[in-house]
Amino acid sequence: FLAFGDILRRRALEHPAAVALRDADGGTLNWAEFDARLDRIGARLQAEGVGRGATVAILGYNAIGYALAFCAAVRIGAAAAPLTTSAPPEAIAAMLADSGARHLFLDRSAGDRLTGTALPAGVSRIAFDDSGVGEPLSAWIPPEGARPRPVEIRPADAFNIIYSSGTTGTPKGIVQSHAMRVGHFRRIAESRFDADSVTFVSTPLYSNTTLVSFLPALVGGGEVIFMPRFDARRFLELAAAYGVTHAMLVPVQYQRIMALPDFDRFNLSRFISKTCTSAPFSAALKAEVLARWPGGLTEFYGMTEGGGSCILRAHEHPDKLHTVGPPAPGHDIRLIDEEGREVPPGGMGEVVGRSETMMDGYRNQPAKTREAEWFDPEGRRFIRHGDIGRFDEDGFLILMDRAKDLIISGGFNIYPSDLEGELRREPGVLDAAVIGVPSEQWGETPVAYVVLEPGAAPDAILASVNQRLGSTQRIRELLPIDELPRSAIGKVLKRELRDRYLAG
Ligand code: ATP
Ligand code: MG
Repeated sequence: FLAFGDILRRRALEHPAAVALRDADGGTLNWAEFDARLDRIGARLQAEGVGRGATVAILGYNAIGYALAFCAAVRIGAAAAPLTTSAPPEAIAAMLADSGARHLFLDRSAGDRLTGTALPAGVSRIAFDDSGVGEPLSAWIPPEGARPRPVEIRPADAFNIIYSSGTTGTPKGIVQSHAMRVGHFRRIAESRFDADSVTFVSTPLYSNTTLVSFLPALVGGGEVIFMPRFDARRFLELAAAYGVTHAMLVPVQYQRIMALPDFDRFNLSRFISKTCTSAPFSAALKAEVLARWPGGLTEFYGMTEGGGSCILRAHEHPDKLHTVGPPAPGHDIRLIDEEGREVPPGGMGEVVGRSETMMDGYRNQPAKTREAEWFDPEGRRFIRHGDIGRFDEDGFLILMDRAKDLIISGGFNIYPSDLEGELRREPGVLDAAVIGVPSEQWGETPVAYVVLEPGAAPDAILASVNQRLGSTQRIRELLPIDELPRSAIGKVLKRELRDRYLAG
């Protein structure tokens, strides 16, 4: 069993002068410096009693300092707890308390957000951006040469506590062990990353989606570039300037990049692999990325609770872009109905899954854990994904909607994604999100929020779409909106749209 911290040391010895981390706005650390900083931070944490069984929390935008705090904690055997930046301040305080951390590394943006929020007592704050929201990291860190005492890390020790994105409610904590994480990262690194990789990371580091690209990239010994606030044009400039080979982006980021009129002017020829996950990615957009952007495109469907349940290598299956691919190796993925029975082949149902990377349960939340479990007739434990889908004849998963977003109208199930697809086919519609709203006659009825091109006529669009939809699916109202509300990781926040509608 090779510990994560030891793998990083090995990489530093292999190529000390190569760049390990780069902040898009300037600074870099080479592998020797990266390794030495981890030791210095680790030494100070140990001096403050942090070690196996302890937790170190981190909150803020992607930056070298963020990565240092994360990796230093893990190297001395403490669990890193990257907190969901975009959650409301009270939820952040609750996550911090739940994590049990006595150290919080944060940046100015995080400090500002927490102003006026009661945090658990006795938590030291260290400002990884050297701002005044805590003790500046540059003053807190011990001098050159400081090293932590060697720690024997056991496979079952906690590697990190991560929190789900909080799209449907309060983020839920999930503990992952060294055994689970390091094995997984090494497998990813072997198939995708090496010392020549230059990996672009612009999705937030608290998200598992980001961690499973960022940490394997380090395990592979390559360079990682952080961008704290995504900007499509800047991304293309940096990708061309630094010869980026790998990027993990979410669909809305692909959408913004492909929409730039001078996209084809940027040299992206070094690209090997692009990945995508976390929200619906339309077949049309996948096709456009494949046609205009060199390198492979791999989509993952999964969740914080268990990693990638399905994988679509889009470049190998151009005829399957409407799917999220077949189950990932080692994942047993099934579909169940509302009564908890497996659906017959070809049927629609809620996704449940079982794998080595699946969580044991939510931290401190036995009731939520029980709600998420499903047992097959042999008594094997699966975790519910909360998403509805069906397998096509080749075993590729076609994803519909989150179960919580389904609209039940007059006894019929309406899948918002069907209606959204129809709306996007209308000229003048740039984006659409359909929600269910209360209706006296039907229980619930669909309403659409749409982003329109200037000059588009909502009434004509509604009439045209409703003509194509079945009588039970008709959209009651079309509400133009400037931009759909999205979380920091690019997921449309339907609960905000429902609140907005009800607030009138
Ligand atoms: P919470 O569980 O806290 O409400 P969340 O479900 O958004 O938030 P994550 O674990 O980050 O938290 O996201 C998992 C969810 O993201 C999946 O259940 C699914 O709804 C969505 N998702 C993930 N990958 C894809 C994909 N490739 N296509 C469409 N949706 C996806
Ligand atoms: Mg979820």
